[in-house]
Amino acid sequence: MRPVDKGPAPQQFTNYQDACAPLEQRLGRYCSFCERLLETHLAVEHVMPKSRHKDLALEWDNFLLACVNCNSSKGSKPVLRPPHAKHTHLWPDEHNTLLAFKYIGGWVEVGLARDHPAFSLAEETVQLLGLDKYEGNPDPNRQPTEADRRWSTREIVRSVAERSRQNLRNADSPFMRDQIIQTALARGGFSIWFATFADDADMQQRLLDAFPSSAKNCFDGVKLIPRDPLLL
Ligand SMILES: [Zn+2]
Repeated sequence: MRPVDKGPAPQQFTNYQDACAPLEQRLGRYCSFCERLLETHLAVEHVMPKSRHKDLALEWDNFLLACVNCNSSKGSKPVLRPPHAKHTHLWPDEHNTLLAFKYIGGWVEVGLARDHPAFSLAEETVQLLGLDKYEGNPDPNRQPTEADRRWSTREIVRSVAERSRQNLRNADSPFMRDQIIQTALARGGFSIWFATFADDADMQQRLLDAFPSSAKNCFDGVKLIPRDPLLL
């Protein structure tokens, strides 16, 4: 999950839907959780559900962008975070979520050691958002519905990213590198691209620079560093 820095509130909101345009402008048209690019049906996501926290319904700090599948998986299940309470989950606008999750094949799993202080929060987050749903999951509750294409989209992005890596090996040039970045932006799935180019710091840096509002305080160059000293 790409860590992001939304920046300060662009205005006060009287209607939360008005935040969609500035969120898209700052973060790109990507779901903040599953990372896929969506031309339509991206919605303002209330991290702490507005049905439970009416005082946060218009708060910029409580907004992210979500696709319909992440949004409906999350629903209005209880979520807490400072300054209201301790974190119950991990979020791309607060933590270095690129450290927390691993993208293997088309599925997402926790990438932290079991004794890591953020391990259970990462597990809760995957569950909450349904990012562990994939075809063939032995748990019938963790299989995607027909309408949930997140898993298969990740599979496609992963194969495009892998193919791009091979192409770069065969014909490395600044033009090819730029073309791959353009492909990544047009497909979404930042974390998959970042993982695929794990051995290529130049490509990782290009990805960080190209995807808007990537949180710079999560990186030393392209090396991942914690953003919250207590968690991630
Ligand atoms: Zn999503």
